[in-house]
Amino acid sequence: MSPRIAPVNLYDLSRSTLGELVASWGGSAFYRDLLWSALYRDQVSSLEAIAGLRADLQERLVERTRLGHLAASHQAASSDGHTHKLLLKLEDGQTIETVVMRFKGRATVCLSTQAGCAMGCVFCATGQMGFVRHLTPGEIVGQVLYAVALLRASGESLRNVVLMGMGEPLHNYDGTMEAVDILCDPRGLALGPRFITLSTVGVVPGIRRLADEERPIQLAVSLHAATDAERSALVPAGRKWPLAELMDACREYSARRGKKIFFEWALIAGKNDSVEQAHTLGKLLAGMDAHVNLIPLNPTAGFREAPSTPGQVRAFQDVLASYALPSTVRQRRGIDIDAGCGQLKAQVEKRR
Ligand code: SF4
Repeated sequence: MSPRIAPVNLYDLSRSTLGELVASWGGSAFYRDLLWSALYRDQVSSLEAIAGLRADLQERLVERTRLGHLAASHQAASSDGHTHKLLLKLEDGQTIETVVMRFKGRATVCLSTQAGCAMGCVFCATGQMGFVRHLTPGEIVGQVLYAVALLRASGESLRNVVLMGMGEPLHNYDGTMEAVDILCDPRGLALGPRFITLSTVGVVPGIRRLADEERPIQLAVSLHAATDAERSALVPAGRKWPLAELMDACREYSARRGKKIFFEWALIAGKNDSVEQAHTLGKLLAGMDAHVNLIPLNPTAGFREAPSTPGQVRAFQDVLASYALPSTVRQRRGIDIDAGCGQLKAQVEKRR
């Protein structure tokens, strides 16, 4: 008896790969498009619910493929009702976090790209867990489909996607980009690439590869410190890719793609929020098309530092303004539901 081939998760496939699969069964591009539309426009709940397929194709689909829908094993809504945090279960039992944020009619979903993370940022609950594995494109796309269904139930639609959840997206470059291409496919979910933001801890080879490719998404770089010594203490990846190398890659990206780069700075009281450190940052980013997002720290169990005070945040921002460096203080959404990356999973596991 020949070994049974594991059914393919249809959400792992690009439209062209789906076309090749359908063609290998004798189906035309018409059936590829019908199937694609059923997956992403109608968002069917089962393969049997796909209408209009030839009987033999339907049979092959049921036999060889599956719809890798994700199910929530835990969820929490913030007290203001704007943030909805989900712990989604993968088929191998791993759990990942996905956060849906509703803000003035512009809904955003924050996606995970890995189960765990290898980057080990000291302030991050996911970094404190370690790396388990990369997510497949279908597991990344599945998070969006879950969010779309959740929003649809309240008459809302999804606009923004941020790749800022568990994991380092550029460490799972292929899986992440295949998912981005599926999300942006004009015949499917048709999300706008400029409404997709990828956040990296500064994986230089990934930034350079992104600069080479035609994918007009937004890039955010988690900086958190403007000297190598201070940065490496918070972000161990800083030892592998020092600031000079990182800034060089960012300048190249910005010049070649003609895009602004967002720099993320978690403000930690007494660690990286002094006026002197703001001056160092101002000098580091001088001349670059940059925007700084200042995020008062979300304390985690493994990193008991405090967020900067509002006065310190203002003083920091004033220094950046003196370098003509635009900045925004980001709200810490859903702080009452452990909405920082990895915090909900850590809490649920602790309770178990
Ligand atoms: S902040 Fe991002 S890159 Fe750093 S450990 Fe957490 S998930 Fe990984």
